[in-house]
Order: sequence, then structure tokens, then C-alpha cells
Amino acid sequence: MSNRLVRIEEHQWLGDKRSFMVHDQDNVCDPAVLDDIAKAESWATFGPDTSVEARNRGYRVCSACAANSAG
Ligand SMILES: [Zn+2]
Repeated sequence: MSNRLVRIEEHQWLGDKRSFMVHDQDNVCDPAVLDDIAKAESWATFGPDTSVEARNRGYRVCSACAANSAG
């Protein structure tokens, strides 16, 4: 279990397979969202770890994370 959490933390972009929403861990909208994804074991990570790659895989970037990122 701890290995999985470490693997999540190594990535900036974390997708939720249930909603096909991808969150930016560096500018996360709500840390509870990440906990929820981890509990549900429904995360997706990307290689390369970019929002472009996430979009290519059919994910939508979370607008709340994007707003945090814009500053
Ligand atoms: Zn978000």
C-alpha cells in the first residue's frame, strides 16, 4: 500500500479513472481529492508526466487545479 502512495507522489499529473479528470498535484484544488482517488485505487499516471499526455489519453484537466496554477 505505501508503495502505491509513493508512486503517486512521484507524479505531478494524477488522473481519476472514474471521472477521467486529471489533477495537478503541484497546484491541487483540494488535497481530499487525492486522498479519495488513493482510497478508491482509481488513479492513472502518465508518461511523460504532462497535461498534454493526459489529454491524449482522454483525460480533462481539472479546472480548479488549473485556476490554482494560474495563480
Ligand atoms: Zn483538481
